[in-house]
Amino acid sequence: MSQLEKLMRPHMAKIATYHGVDPSAELARKAGIKPEDVIRLNANENPYGALDKVAESITGLDIHLYPDSQQRKLRAALSDYTGQPPDRIIAGAGGDEIIDLLIRLFVAPGQKVLDCQPTFGMYAFSARQVDAKIVSVPRNSTWDIDITTMLEEIDDSARIVFLASPNNPTGNLLTESDARALLETGIVVCVDETYYEFSRNTLSHLLDEYENLVVLRSFSKWAGLAGLRVGYAMASVNLVQHLMDIKQPYNINIAGETAVLAALEHKDDLLKRAHSLVEQRKRVEEVIDNLDGISYYPSEGNFLLCRFDRRTAEEAYVGLAEHGIFVRRFPQSALDNSLRISAGTPEQTDRLIDALRSVV
Ligand SMILES: *Cc1c(COP(=O)(O)O)cnc(C)c1O
Repeated sequence: MSQLEKLMRPHMAKIATYHGVDPSAELARKAGIKPEDVIRLNANENPYGALDKVAESITGLDIHLYPDSQQRKLRAALSDYTGQPPDRIIAGAGGDEIIDLLIRLFVAPGQKVLDCQPTFGMYAFSARQVDAKIVSVPRNSTWDIDITTMLEEIDDSARIVFLASPNNPTGNLLTESDARALLETGIVVCVDETYYEFSRNTLSHLLDEYENLVVLRSFSKWAGLAGLRVGYAMASVNLVQHLMDIKQPYNINIAGETAVLAALEHKDDLLKRAHSLVEQRKRVEEVIDNLDGISYYPSEGNFLLCRFDRRTAEEAYVGLAEHGIFVRRFPQSALDNSLRISAGTPEQTDRLIDALRSVV
């Protein structure tokens, strides 16, 4: 251990890098193909890109000025979109920042943060930063949460539970009765609805009943703005005010703010694209229904978790990469034979279908 590491807080010094998705050039280099032949179906990004009108909105901005720390325009526009009052909304630099803020607001070292594996990795990642005790309760064979074990784990040291709905990577929804059972314990329940615009299913109506509910959303997937980093949370006025108090004042940059305002102005165009991605996911499902050696778990998102019967996930991954198609693999043993494939454009889906036929 170097002198520097001795100075560090021990739990911080041992945190491993979170490996996000590689840039396309890097994927191409590793697979030995040309960058223009890369089809990215590995991060649930929007394959249509941003709307032209949204991309145009961020030119010529007053980038020499600080953005509005109170997010007034943004919260007003999000209020129109969600139907929640502005003081129940806070924007973050991606949903990821909101996850981080929630953990910093509620969790002291050694206290419990709960999630249900397999799920999105950022909950545990942010929990590690505060030296939390991470309790991961495995999902059952249909990927539903094990509510009995969850309730047993919720004790005086439990602070917050994170549940994605639809869950990434499994694609299934959280039921309202499970959400209510967890909310009734009084700990903070963060329902991560990053894929809401694909599932059209929300638990936000429970916000009127529970001060401890947080509903998380993002502009990264449906709105095609992953690179600008904007997400938001809806919660009680009290909870939102505390999050506003601890966030970095200028967490949303001017480009992100402007792009989100433009995206909400053109939300109908974006929702059509989201709908078409669901249609493409269904095309893949139909093909898999008629193909031996592969099956999928029902999904409400813009992605499909596929299971290979005659290949390991690694073999299937390499096979698809040889066709220029990059998908997501997972370290968990429960997903040894599974890959998550994001919905693509119709042309990308054509190529995916051909590749799947030859890889299975
Ligand atoms: C992608 C994703 C997010 C966060 O996305 P941001 O880009 O940080 O807004 C949050 N939760 C889930 C389940 C995701 O898949």
